[in-house]
Amino acid sequence: MTRLPISHIQEAAEAALNVARPYLREGRVASYIPALSSVNPDHLGLAAVTLDGHTVTAGDAVTPFSIQSISKVFTLTLALNKVGEKLWARVGREPSGTAFNSIVQLESEAGRPRNPLINAGAIATTDQIINSGGASGGASGGVLGGAREAIDDIESFLQTVAMDTAVEIDLDVAASEAAAGSRNRSLAHFMAAFGNLTHPVETVLDVYFHQCALKMTCLQLARAGLYLANEGVDPLTGKRITSVDHCRQINAVMMQCGHYDNSGEFAVRVGLPGKSGVGGGILAIAPGKGAVAVWSPGLNEAGTSFSGAAALEHFSAALDWSVFSV
Ligand code: GLU
Repeated sequence: MTRLPISHIQEAAEAALNVARPYLREGRVASYIPALSSVNPDHLGLAAVTLDGHTVTAGDAVTPFSIQSISKVFTLTLALNKVGEKLWARVGREPSGTAFNSIVQLESEAGRPRNPLINAGAIATTDQIINSGGASGGASGGVLGGAREAIDDIESFLQTVAMDTAVEIDLDVAASEAAAGSRNRSLAHFMAAFGNLTHPVETVLDVYFHQCALKMTCLQLARAGLYLANEGVDPLTGKRITSVDHCRQINAVMMQCGHYDNSGEFAVRVGLPGKSGVGGGILAIAPGKGAVAVWSPGLNEAGTSFSGAAALEHFSAALDWSVFSV
Protein backbone atom coordinates (compact mmCIF):
# COMPACT_ATOMS: atom_id res chain seq x y z
CA MET A 1 0.00 0.00 0.00
CA THR A 2 1.29 3.47 -0.82
CA ARG A 3 1.27 5.53 2.34
CA LEU A 4 -0.31 8.95 1.94
CA PRO A 5 1.43 11.95 3.53
CA ILE A 6 -0.44 12.93 6.69
CA SER A 7 -0.72 16.52 5.41
CA HIS A 8 -2.71 15.18 2.45
CA ILE A 9 -5.14 13.39 4.80
CA GLN A 10 -5.49 16.53 6.92
CA GLU A 11 -6.27 18.61 3.82
CA ALA A 12 -8.83 16.01 2.71
CA ALA A 13 -10.50 16.17 6.14
CA GLU A 14 -10.80 19.94 6.07
CA ALA A 15 -11.96 19.99 2.46
CA ALA A 16 -14.58 17.32 3.26
CA LEU A 17 -16.06 19.47 6.01
CA ASN A 18 -16.11 22.50 3.73
CA VAL A 19 -18.06 20.49 1.17
CA ALA A 20 -20.49 19.21 3.81
CA ARG A 21 -21.07 22.43 5.77
CA PRO A 22 -23.68 23.95 3.41
CA TYR A 23 -25.92 20.91 4.05
CA LEU A 24 -26.00 21.26 7.83
CA ARG A 25 -29.59 22.48 7.89
CA GLU A 26 -30.80 19.99 5.25
CA GLY A 27 -31.05 17.21 7.81
CA ARG A 28 -33.34 16.82 10.83
CA VAL A 29 -32.10 16.03 14.34
CA ALA A 30 -33.66 12.81 15.70
CA SER A 31 -36.57 13.68 17.95
CA TYR A 32 -38.10 10.31 18.83
CA ILE A 33 -35.56 9.98 21.65
CA PRO A 34 -36.26 13.15 23.69
CA ALA A 35 -32.69 13.49 25.00
CA LEU A 36 -31.36 13.71 21.43
CA SER A 37 -33.78 16.34 20.18
CA SER A 38 -32.02 19.27 21.87
CA VAL A 39 -28.63 18.71 20.17
CA ASN A 40 -27.38 21.69 18.15
CA PRO A 41 -27.68 20.75 14.43
CA ASP A 42 -24.67 22.90 13.49
CA HIS A 43 -22.06 20.48 14.80
CA LEU A 44 -19.76 18.98 12.19
CA GLY A 45 -16.63 16.98 12.90
CA LEU A 46 -14.35 14.39 11.36
CA ALA A 47 -11.47 12.31 12.70
CA ALA A 48 -9.39 9.68 10.96
CA VAL A 49 -6.74 7.36 12.32
CA THR A 50 -4.41 5.43 10.03
CA LEU A 51 -3.03 1.96 10.69
CA ASP A 52 0.34 3.45 11.55
CA GLY A 53 -1.29 5.61 14.22
CA HIS A 54 -1.43 8.97 12.50
CA THR A 55 -4.44 11.02 13.47
CA VAL A 56 -6.21 13.86 11.75
CA THR A 57 -9.06 15.90 13.17
CA ALA A 58 -11.25 18.65 11.71
CA GLY A 59 -14.20 20.60 13.09
CA ASP A 60 -15.95 19.19 16.17
CA ALA A 61 -13.85 16.03 16.25
CA VAL A 62 -13.39 15.92 20.00
CA THR A 63 -16.92 16.81 21.12
CA PRO A 64 -18.72 13.77 22.58
CA PHE A 65 -22.04 12.73 21.01
CA SER A 66 -24.44 9.81 21.36
CA ILE A 67 -23.14 6.99 19.16
CA GLN A 68 -26.51 5.20 19.12
CA SER A 69 -26.55 2.43 16.50
CA ILE A 70 -22.82 2.61 15.86
CA SER A 71 -22.63 0.62 19.11
CA LYS A 72 -24.13 -2.30 17.15
CA VAL A 73 -20.80 -2.87 15.41
CA PHE A 74 -19.07 -3.34 18.75
CA THR A 75 -21.73 -5.57 20.30
CA LEU A 76 -21.63 -7.64 17.11
CA THR A 77 -17.90 -8.06 17.68
CA LEU A 78 -18.47 -9.11 21.30
CA ALA A 79 -21.24 -11.55 20.34
CA LEU A 80 -19.15 -13.17 17.60
CA ASN A 81 -16.23 -13.44 20.01
CA LYS A 82 -18.49 -15.12 22.57
CA VAL A 83 -20.74 -17.45 20.58
CA GLY A 84 -19.04 -17.57 17.17
CA GLU A 85 -20.92 -18.70 14.09
CA LYS A 86 -23.90 -19.78 16.20
CA LEU A 87 -24.90 -16.14 16.23
CA TRP A 88 -26.08 -16.45 12.63
CA ALA A 89 -28.78 -18.89 13.64
CA ARG A 90 -30.35 -16.05 15.67
CA VAL A 91 -29.85 -13.20 13.23
CA GLY A 92 -29.34 -13.05 9.47
CA ARG A 93 -26.83 -11.12 7.39
CA GLU A 94 -28.95 -9.78 4.59
CA PRO A 95 -29.89 -6.15 3.95
CA SER A 96 -33.39 -5.47 5.23
CA GLY A 97 -34.54 -2.81 2.76
CA THR A 98 -36.80 -1.54 5.53
CA ALA A 99 -36.48 1.09 8.27
CA PHE A 100 -34.14 0.39 11.20
CA ASN A 101 -37.03 -0.18 13.59
CA SER A 102 -39.40 -1.98 11.22
CA ILE A 103 -41.50 -4.81 12.62
CA VAL A 104 -42.96 -6.06 9.31
CA GLN A 105 -40.21 -8.49 8.32
CA LEU A 106 -40.00 -9.97 11.79
CA GLU A 107 -43.46 -11.41 11.48
CA SER A 108 -43.02 -12.91 8.02
CA GLU A 109 -39.56 -14.24 8.92
CA ALA A 110 -40.50 -15.94 12.18
CA GLY A 111 -38.74 -13.57 14.58
CA ARG A 112 -35.24 -13.91 13.06
CA PRO A 113 -34.11 -10.37 12.18
CA ARG A 114 -32.48 -9.74 8.83
CA ASN A 115 -29.15 -8.49 10.20
CA PRO A 116 -27.41 -7.38 13.43
CA LEU A 117 -27.35 -3.69 12.48
CA ILE A 118 -31.10 -3.03 12.51
CA ASN A 119 -32.74 -2.63 15.92
CA ALA A 120 -34.29 -6.10 16.13
CA GLY A 121 -31.05 -7.74 15.04
CA ALA A 122 -29.01 -5.71 17.49
CA ILE A 123 -31.36 -6.63 20.32
CA ALA A 124 -30.99 -10.34 19.43
CA THR A 125 -27.21 -9.88 19.22
CA THR A 126 -27.03 -8.13 22.58
CA ASP A 127 -29.06 -10.96 24.12
CA GLN A 128 -26.17 -13.26 23.19
CA ILE A 129 -23.55 -11.30 25.10
CA ILE A 130 -25.45 -11.37 28.40
CA ASN A 131 -24.22 -14.08 30.75
CA SER A 132 -26.96 -16.21 32.20
CA GLY A 133 -27.19 -16.28 35.96
CA GLY A 134 -25.72 -12.76 36.37
CA ALA A 135 -25.99 -11.01 39.71
CA SER A 136 -29.56 -10.29 40.70
CA GLY A 137 -30.19 -6.65 40.09
CA GLY A 138 -32.63 -3.83 39.95
CA ALA A 139 -31.19 -2.11 42.99
CA SER A 140 -28.20 -0.40 41.38
CA GLY A 141 -29.55 2.49 39.34
CA GLY A 142 -32.48 0.47 38.04
CA VAL A 143 -30.37 -1.89 35.95
CA LEU A 144 -31.87 -5.36 35.84
CA GLY A 145 -30.18 -8.62 36.87
CA GLY A 146 -27.67 -9.95 34.34
CA ALA A 147 -27.64 -6.64 32.50
CA ARG A 148 -25.10 -4.85 34.70
CA GLU A 149 -22.21 -7.14 33.77
CA ALA A 150 -22.96 -6.87 30.04
CA ILE A 151 -23.22 -3.08 30.21
CA ASP A 152 -19.88 -2.91 32.04
CA ASP A 153 -18.31 -5.28 29.49
CA ILE A 154 -19.49 -3.14 26.57
CA GLU A 155 -18.28 0.09 28.18
CA SER A 156 -14.91 -1.39 29.02
CA PHE A 157 -14.55 -2.89 25.52
CA LEU A 158 -15.07 0.57 24.04
CA GLN A 159 -12.58 2.09 26.47
CA THR A 160 -10.03 -0.54 25.41
CA VAL A 161 -10.43 -0.16 21.65
CA ALA A 162 -10.69 3.63 21.87
CA MET A 163 -7.66 3.60 24.21
CA ASP A 164 -9.50 6.10 26.36
CA THR A 165 -11.02 5.49 29.78
CA ALA A 166 -13.09 8.67 29.35
CA VAL A 167 -15.56 6.79 27.09
CA GLU A 168 -18.77 6.40 29.06
CA ILE A 169 -22.49 5.82 28.86
CA ASP A 170 -24.77 8.85 29.15
CA LEU A 171 -27.30 7.66 31.72
CA ASP A 172 -29.77 10.45 30.87
CA VAL A 173 -29.86 9.29 27.24
CA ALA A 174 -30.25 5.66 28.34
CA ALA A 175 -33.19 6.65 30.57
CA SER A 176 -34.72 8.72 27.79
CA GLU A 177 -34.48 5.77 25.40
CA ALA A 178 -36.04 3.45 27.91
CA ALA A 179 -38.90 5.89 28.49
CA ALA A 180 -39.52 6.24 24.74
CA GLY A 181 -38.78 2.60 23.96
CA SER A 182 -42.19 1.21 22.99
CA ARG A 183 -41.09 0.37 19.49
CA ASN A 184 -37.98 -1.52 20.65
CA ARG A 185 -40.07 -3.26 23.32
CA SER A 186 -42.44 -4.41 20.59
CA LEU A 187 -39.56 -5.79 18.53
CA ALA A 188 -38.10 -7.58 21.56
CA HIS A 189 -41.41 -9.06 22.68
CA PHE A 190 -42.06 -10.21 19.15
CA MET A 191 -38.74 -12.04 19.03
CA ALA A 192 -39.33 -13.46 22.50
CA ALA A 193 -42.64 -14.85 21.27
CA PHE A 194 -40.72 -16.73 18.58
CA GLY A 195 -38.21 -18.00 21.14
CA ASN A 196 -35.37 -15.89 19.73
CA LEU A 197 -34.33 -14.25 23.03
CA THR A 198 -32.64 -16.22 25.78
CA HIS A 199 -33.04 -13.56 28.49
CA PRO A 200 -36.06 -11.60 29.69
CA VAL A 201 -37.07 -8.77 27.36
CA GLU A 202 -36.46 -6.01 29.91
CA THR A 203 -32.99 -7.35 30.75
CA VAL A 204 -31.97 -7.37 27.09
CA LEU A 205 -33.45 -3.93 26.48
CA ASP A 206 -31.68 -2.56 29.52
CA VAL A 207 -28.35 -3.47 27.93
CA TYR A 208 -29.46 -2.31 24.48
CA PHE A 209 -30.60 1.13 25.72
CA HIS A 210 -27.31 1.60 27.59
CA GLN A 211 -25.11 0.57 24.65
CA CYS A 212 -26.92 3.03 22.37
CA ALA A 213 -26.30 5.77 24.96
CA LEU A 214 -22.50 5.47 24.76
CA LYS A 215 -21.03 8.93 24.35
CA MET A 216 -17.92 9.25 22.20
CA THR A 217 -16.04 11.73 20.07
CA CYS A 218 -15.18 11.24 16.39
CA LEU A 219 -11.57 10.73 17.45
CA GLN A 220 -12.43 8.03 19.99
CA LEU A 221 -14.71 6.29 17.47
CA ALA A 222 -12.18 6.27 14.64
CA ARG A 223 -9.59 4.91 17.07
CA ALA A 224 -12.05 2.28 18.29
CA GLY A 225 -12.76 1.09 14.74
CA LEU A 226 -9.13 0.57 13.81
CA TYR A 227 -9.11 -3.19 14.48
CA LEU A 228 -11.73 -3.57 11.75
CA ALA A 229 -9.31 -2.01 9.25
CA ASN A 230 -6.58 -4.45 10.27
CA GLU A 231 -8.17 -7.91 10.10
CA GLY A 232 -9.17 -7.88 13.76
CA VAL A 233 -5.86 -6.82 15.33
CA ASP A 234 -5.46 -3.41 16.94
CA PRO A 235 -2.48 -2.11 14.94
CA LEU A 236 -1.34 0.21 17.71
CA THR A 237 -1.27 -2.29 20.57
CA GLY A 238 -0.83 -5.51 18.58
CA LYS A 239 -3.76 -7.00 20.53
CA ARG A 240 -6.16 -9.31 18.67
CA ILE A 241 -9.67 -7.96 19.19
CA THR A 242 -11.51 -10.44 16.99
CA SER A 243 -10.63 -13.17 14.48
CA VAL A 244 -9.83 -12.48 10.82
CA ASP A 245 -13.04 -14.25 9.81
CA HIS A 246 -15.20 -12.28 12.19
CA CYS A 247 -13.59 -9.03 11.12
CA ARG A 248 -14.38 -9.79 7.48
CA GLN A 249 -17.94 -10.74 8.36
CA ILE A 250 -18.46 -7.52 10.32
CA ASN A 251 -17.13 -5.37 7.48
CA ALA A 252 -19.28 -7.23 4.95
CA VAL A 253 -22.39 -6.73 7.07
CA MET A 254 -21.53 -3.04 7.56
CA MET A 255 -21.13 -2.56 3.82
CA GLN A 256 -24.53 -4.09 3.08
CA CYS A 257 -26.59 -3.15 6.11
CA GLY A 258 -24.89 -0.29 7.97
CA HIS A 259 -27.15 2.58 6.99
CA TYR A 260 -30.76 1.46 7.27
CA ASP A 261 -32.50 1.47 3.92
CA ASN A 262 -29.94 3.79 2.36
CA SER A 263 -27.09 1.29 2.71
CA GLY A 264 -26.83 0.77 -1.05
CA GLU A 265 -26.68 4.50 -1.62
CA PHE A 266 -23.88 4.82 0.96
CA ALA A 267 -21.90 1.96 -0.63
CA VAL A 268 -22.12 3.66 -4.00
CA ARG A 269 -21.23 7.12 -2.72
CA VAL A 270 -18.56 6.27 -0.12
CA GLY A 271 -17.43 2.74 -0.98
CA LEU A 272 -16.50 1.81 2.59
CA PRO A 273 -18.04 -0.47 5.22
CA GLY A 274 -19.75 1.84 7.68
CA LYS A 275 -22.38 2.30 10.35
CA SER A 276 -24.68 5.24 10.97
CA GLY A 277 -26.34 6.18 14.23
CA VAL A 278 -29.33 8.47 14.77
CA GLY A 279 -27.11 10.69 16.93
CA GLY A 280 -25.61 11.80 13.59
CA GLY A 281 -22.37 9.85 13.79
CA ILE A 282 -21.00 7.57 11.08
CA LEU A 283 -18.04 5.22 11.46
CA ALA A 284 -16.39 4.01 8.24
CA ILE A 285 -13.62 1.48 7.81
CA ALA A 286 -10.95 1.55 5.10
CA PRO A 287 -9.42 -1.96 5.29
CA GLY A 288 -5.64 -1.83 5.24
CA LYS A 289 -5.68 1.96 5.57
CA GLY A 290 -7.52 3.30 8.60
CA ALA A 291 -10.83 4.29 10.16
CA VAL A 292 -12.76 7.53 9.93
CA ALA A 293 -15.64 8.91 11.97
CA VAL A 294 -17.84 11.90 11.21
CA TRP A 295 -20.56 13.59 13.20
CA SER A 296 -23.30 15.99 12.24
CA PRO A 297 -26.68 15.63 14.00
CA GLY A 298 -29.02 16.46 11.09
CA LEU A 299 -30.30 13.21 9.53
CA ASN A 300 -31.70 12.33 6.13
CA GLU A 301 -35.05 10.54 5.89
CA ALA A 302 -33.49 7.12 6.44
CA GLY A 303 -31.65 8.22 9.60
CA THR A 304 -28.11 8.77 8.27
CA SER A 305 -26.28 12.03 8.94
CA PHE A 306 -26.90 14.27 5.94
CA SER A 307 -23.72 16.33 6.12
CA GLY A 308 -21.75 13.43 7.59
CA ALA A 309 -22.41 11.28 4.53
CA ALA A 310 -21.47 14.18 2.24
CA ALA A 311 -18.21 14.66 4.15
CA LEU A 312 -17.36 10.96 4.00
CA GLU A 313 -18.10 10.80 0.30
CA HIS A 314 -15.65 13.61 -0.32
CA PHE A 315 -13.01 12.29 2.10
CA SER A 316 -13.06 8.77 0.69
CA ALA A 317 -12.85 10.03 -2.89
CA ALA A 318 -10.00 12.47 -2.12
CA LEU A 319 -7.90 9.68 -0.60
CA ASP A 320 -9.06 7.01 -3.03
CA TRP A 321 -10.05 4.92 0.00
CA SER A 322 -13.05 3.18 -1.60
CA VAL A 323 -12.70 -0.60 -1.32
CA PHE A 324 -13.66 -0.69 -5.00
CA SER A 325 -10.61 1.34 -6.06
CA VAL A 326 -7.77 -0.57 -7.69
N1 GLU B 1 -31.28 3.78 20.11
C1 GLU B 1 -31.85 3.94 18.81
C2 GLU B 1 -33.07 3.08 18.67
O1 GLU B 1 -33.11 2.04 19.25
C3 GLU B 1 -30.82 3.58 17.80
C4 GLU B 1 -31.25 3.85 16.41
C5 GLU B 1 -30.13 4.15 15.48
O2 GLU B 1 -29.17 4.82 15.81
O3 GLU B 1 -30.23 3.67 14.35
O4 GLU B 1 -33.99 3.42 17.99
